[in-house]
Amino acid sequence: MLVSLVQQRKLERQARDARRGKLGRGRYDNIVKELVDVIRLAFEAGATGSLWGLEGPLRAGLRSDLCLQGWGWESADLIAREILAEAFRAAGAKRPTWNEGQPEWTVEAGTIIERASCARCHKPLPDGRPKFCSDLCKASHHQRLINLRRANEDTAIRMATRSI
Ligand SMILES: [Zn+2]
Repeated sequence: MLVSLVQQRKLERQARDARRGKLGRGRYDNIVKELVDVIRLAFEAGATGSLWGLEGPLRAGLRSDLCLQGWGWESADLIAREILAEAFRAAGAKRPTWNEGQPEWTVEAGTIIERASCARCHKPLPDGRPKFCSDLCKASHHQRLINLRRANEDTAIRMATRSI
């Protein structure tokens, strides 16, 4: 089991090195350096809300360029992902946690978002109630969050999409 895991990692590393070799080490490093500049400049100029703002378009752009140069889609996508991972690491980008990605986070962090409707049932909010129309909605909403946080990723996705 452990041996096969080690063997598998070795094979993955060899495949990754082969992809990088195909691109050329110098070119690989240059692309990473250029991307770090683009990522930082876009963020500093306010064009993106976080360092991750261009992740999707950059990945698609890199993949597309490589495909036009004769790479297969899958290997082009894999190396685009590797290049971007290195660029984001070099740019100092850190992914937000799952909790930070939830709509409730901004409210908990103290950013005032004025609500007009209940966060759970979407009925208009009575005076003096900033987020939930009733204690029942508040308790039920918090229980749902607790369940989501306890759930593994697959279950969480299923729970989240079912409630939409
Ligand atoms: Zn409600």
